[in-house]
Formats: sequence, structure tokens, C-alpha cells
Amino acid sequence: MSSTPAAPADAADRRAVKPVICYPNDTLPAPDLALYSQAREGAAKTGEVLVTPRDAACFEVPAGHFFRITSVEGPQVGDLNLWNKNDLSERFYSGKTRALHGTHITTGERMWTSFPHLRPMATIVADTLGWYGIDEFGGSVHDVIGTRCDPYTGNLLAGSQYHHCCHSNLTRALADHLGISPAEAEPHVHDVLNVFMCTGFTRDTGQYFMKASPVRPGDYLEFFAEIDLLGSLSACPGGDCSAEHSSDTAACYPLLVEVFAPGEGALGDWRSPPRNGYDRSHGRS
Ligand SMILES: [Zn+2]
Repeated sequence: MSSTPAAPADAADRRAVKPVICYPNDTLPAPDLALYSQAREGAAKTGEVLVTPRDAACFEVPAGHFFRITSVEGPQVGDLNLWNKNDLSERFYSGKTRALHGTHITTGERMWTSFPHLRPMATIVADTLGWYGIDEFGGSVHDVIGTRCDPYTGNLLAGSQYHHCCHSNLTRALADHLGISPAEAEPHVHDVLNVFMCTGFTRDTGQYFMKASPVRPGDYLEFFAEIDLLGSLSACPGGDCSAEHSSDTAACYPLLVEVFAPGEGALGDWRSPPRNGYDRSHGRS
């Protein structure tokens, strides 16, 4: 056991140093929310999928279309994975999205893709839980700080063999969608956007916490697809995540995913964002 080292004489001064934002994001390319909103007004629904509780389902969204995730029947949290439909190696990058936007995301903020692409893949255009803000515990909704509930951590902490964690749900859904085995699908599953989940870090120990989601049936989170997307959404076995998330104990409800196509020409000369402009030489010629 290591003991806590003695604090230096100027400890208070060192702690009093003011923080600076790591990535000021005022130079991020801004989404044209007015254009998206105009395009959404004339958009027509093209499909939907109802995600079964404690399971996941895949869906595809062409670039320039919208998709909406809605709570139905009861409070339920969703774990969302997104890929470039044409290249699964380009996928949602939770860590960089967190570094750019903060621990939780809402309207006007974006889900960014992995290196070397690093471009927006989806922009949040509506969030009926946008009123929640940050509560007295430091909790908020739609986080990019969690990973996804998974059977490995359950086994590590409790020796369990539980098969309906979001990680396994996402793995099975992707395998079924692509016609590949779970073993082939699993490496594509990645850290999620925790849709509707209410989370934060405790101030005293810095631990990841969850609490009952404020989501109610009718609440939704809606996105604009910046590139051709393959999505997978798991209706977490934690339900509203008020207590447990790796068992069949919690009450769970379905989640609805709907896709909408804008009218012809509604997006004007909008185009998918290009891949990141870094030359990838890494200092070698
Ligand atoms: Zn989960």
C-alpha cells in the first residue's frame, strides 16, 4: 500500500490555479441549424425500427436524412453506436467528442468520427430533455463518458455470465445486419452515446455515477446524418438506469428509431463534410 505523500508548502496556491479549456471550440465548423430545421419541416418518414427491451437493432440513414430516437411505453436508456455505412473502420469517437463538446451533448453538438477521419457524422437537431441542464450532483443526460454495459466487466466484478448487456446486444444486432458471426462483429462495437442516460462523476471520489433518467414516453433525441450511417441502438438492460444495468432485474421498455428524408432540393448545395485535412505524414517525408 502506498501512503499519501505530504503536501508541499504551496499546495493551496497550486490548487487555486484556474483551469483553462483544453479545446476551445469556437473555431469548430458550425452546423447550419437553420438549414437543417428548414429541411426537416418538409421531411417525410421513410422507415422505423422498434428496438426490443434488452436487445438491439440496426438501422441505416443516408447522408442528409434525419433520425429520431423516441422513448415509448416507459423510461428507457439507449446505447448508440454509429458507423460510416460504407467503411466500418470510420466510427463514432466518444473520447474526442467528449474533449470537443464536454461530458454530455445536446442540440447543435455533434458526434465525431475516429482517426484519421475526424469529421462530424451526426448533428443533434432536437432534444426534448434539453431543459435538464446539469443537476446538483453534476449529472446530465446523453453522455459520452460511459462506455457501454458489457459482460466482461460484469464477469470481472461479479463472476457473472450475462448475455444481454448493451455490448452483446450491439454485437448480435450488427452480426445479424451484416450476416457475419458475433466474433466478427464484436471488434466493430465501440464506446457509445448514452441516449437519455443521466450520469456524471462524483465530486468526492471522481467515480462514474448514474441515476434514474428523467426521460418519459414521448421524449426524443433527433439527429441529422452528416454522412451515410449505419446505426445500432441497444435498449439497455438497466431500463432507466436507476439501479442496475447488467441483469434482468430492471423494468425495460422499447425504443423507437424513425428515419426521415428531406424534400427534393431542401438542403440546397449542402454536402457531407470532407475527411480531416491533416496530411498524415506524421513528420516523415
Ligand atoms: Zn447498457
